[in-house]
Amino acid sequence: WKSERVIASRQGPHLRLAGGGAGIINFCANNYLGLSSHPEVIRAAVEALEKFGAGLSSVRFICGTQSIHKDLEEKIARFHQREDAILYASCFDANAGIFEALLTPEDAVLSDELNHASIIDGIRLCKANKYRYKHMDMQDLEAKLKEAQKHRLRLVATDGAFSMDGDIAPLREICQLAQKYDALVFIDECHATGFLGPNGRGTDELLGVVDKVTIINSTLGKALGGAAGGYTTGPKPLIDLLRQRSRPYLFSNSLPPAVVGCASKALDLLMESNAIAQSMAAKTQRFRSKMTAAGFTISGKDHPICPVMLGDARLASVMAEDMLNRGIYVIGFSYPVVPKGKARIRVQISAVHSDEDIDRCVEAFTEVGRKHGALP
Ligand code: PLP
Repeated sequence: WKSERVIASRQGPHLRLAGGGAGIINFCANNYLGLSSHPEVIRAAVEALEKFGAGLSSVRFICGTQSIHKDLEEKIARFHQREDAILYASCFDANAGIFEALLTPEDAVLSDELNHASIIDGIRLCKANKYRYKHMDMQDLEAKLKEAQKHRLRLVATDGAFSMDGDIAPLREICQLAQKYDALVFIDECHATGFLGPNGRGTDELLGVVDKVTIINSTLGKALGGAAGGYTTGPKPLIDLLRQRSRPYLFSNSLPPAVVGCASKALDLLMESNAIAQSMAAKTQRFRSKMTAAGFTISGKDHPICPVMLGDARLASVMAEDMLNRGIYVIGFSYPVVPKGKARIRVQISAVHSDEDIDRCVEAFTEVGRKHGALP
């Protein structure tokens, strides 16, 4: 059983935990750009709440579409340089809704074995032929694509950035294979939208394949304000089809106006300037290089998800507990969330961490690591 810590303050780099524990430095939120408590994001939410009410009491196609929903969809499509976008209550819903709506029993879906649970569930719901390729293994993907030539349509599905390892899918190679074997490419950009690539557009921008990836699903609940919500963006005929066929869209309530207001303002801030994303990248670099110099192994590369690899499940758990005693909130992950023998503490860097926060985290890791034998 997992336990949940109760936070008694806003989401942010510094937290107060219920029942004490003030001034805790938070290194385990997906609040990559610090927009969850950005004053302009909060103001936009309040304004949308006052103008458009608490909620729609309806799904989109009955009486649940307001001008702000259409504006946000247009803004998301523009942000990603795609034709259109459709909103969902979460990215989990976007992933649950897309495969069934798009693929028939004559088609095939090829999925990275470490894809997020919501992609796995979405694929379970569709009747297409299913192929699972080894994590980021292009030889295996090619073998599966050859096997899948007998089907009408092929869709390769991958996370853009993988949340447990902070590693980035080899999208250039995936897109080349997709071209060779006539497949479409789908990416889940929950851990990339807003901050990866020169303008924060995501993994496709980072790897120069914006025009080769057909479908993007992502979340409004991480870097883009952190409230909730998800979306699909891509070709207009696909988005039109989802509005008719995608079950989580058709049969679940519209996004609340305050949530729409947050995300819309977050996108405005990111389209105005990439300064916030750059500040996060500099802090990520600071943490990764200082931890490596201290003797730790950090998985992934250049991503704000920085898994401190420890191997042993108990070690990860006691070290995370001891870090909290030193005012640093991090979480240990072990089997079955990650493979056996690959336990780790996942640290997530945010643009709103100060250099001092980062340095305090490294110091605490060094002390705790020595105490528990993870460092010499
Ligand atoms: N996809 C990935 C890769 C995620 O990490 C998550 C959230 O944990 C989701 C999808 C689901 O996103 P949401 O919280 O918007 O449902």
